[in-house]
Amino acid sequence: MPTKSHGLAILNTPDAELPELMRQAREIRDRHTGQHAQLCSIVNAKSGSCPEDCAYCAQSARHQTGVETYALLPPEKILAKALLAKKNGAHCFGIVTSGRGLAPRDLEQALEAVRLIAAEGIHAAASLGILDETALQKLKTAGLRRYHHNLETAESYFPRICTTHTYADRVRTARAAKKVGLELCCGGIVGLGETKAQRVELVMAIADLSPESVPLNFLNPVTGTRLENLPPLSINDICRTIALFRFFLPDKNIGVMGGREQLLKDRQDLVFAAGANGFMLGDYLTTAGNSVEADHALVAAAGLDRR
Ligand code: SF4
Repeated sequence: MPTKSHGLAILNTPDAELPELMRQAREIRDRHTGQHAQLCSIVNAKSGSCPEDCAYCAQSARHQTGVETYALLPPEKILAKALLAKKNGAHCFGIVTSGRGLAPRDLEQALEAVRLIAAEGIHAAASLGILDETALQKLKTAGLRRYHHNLETAESYFPRICTTHTYADRVRTARAAKKVGLELCCGGIVGLGETKAQRVELVMAIADLSPESVPLNFLNPVTGTRLENLPPLSINDICRTIALFRFFLPDKNIGVMGGREQLLKDRQDLVFAAGANGFMLGDYLTTAGNSVEADHALVAAAGLDRR
């Protein structure tokens, strides 16, 4: 793995040298993951009213964001979303719920949804918060392939972002998912007010967990959250960060998720130009995504195929 000082040098790359940095990142990607884009889709299966206090999140009950709130969707509704995602060309479909974890009754309902999705031959993923090995094992037995649980930010910055659970809680869940044999999808959010050194700290911690895929989110500040007034990252800093992740995670599926449309606007081609190999297809948890046609066109323009 590159060193911390190499990571900082990547994040401090002068504008004039950025095209060369991105070329190197693409070269690493093509060597390790081939010229394939991995696209995933999600459903916000349980929205809002979360008791946790993550500073960036529109779904925390402590934030007045006007986000829609509802209880866990019935399994048949979740399946319908999964089938649509498959039709749209998503490689993987994730059931995402707000909250610290899942109550036993909700877990039973989620297990049924996983069974239905897996029976359709869809790569089933879930992001259900902090779970123990027993719950994760039940999900695996039901047909779940991948568990998503972000580290969110660097350990040294985490207490500034969340005080209702700990960084150690997050690492424990990520490790438990791997332990029961699930693929791990684990990334974070950049632009939360962390330093560049903390961005490097985050990517090194993710590399240490060796996840299958890495969702890289960029803060798109939501009105009503604690971070509503943070300035978003510049386009060049987004490119430096994508390249940073590729240098430290050469063989992983790196997807640029939240913030792509809002921050990159008409330069979303930079996702692939800077070394990532995937993104979210369709809508996010609380914000709308591109049209499927526009996203497919981005993949094709990058010379990648979809898988
Ligand atoms: S636990 Fe999840 S849903 Fe709840 S506030 Fe944090 S990020 Fe948002």
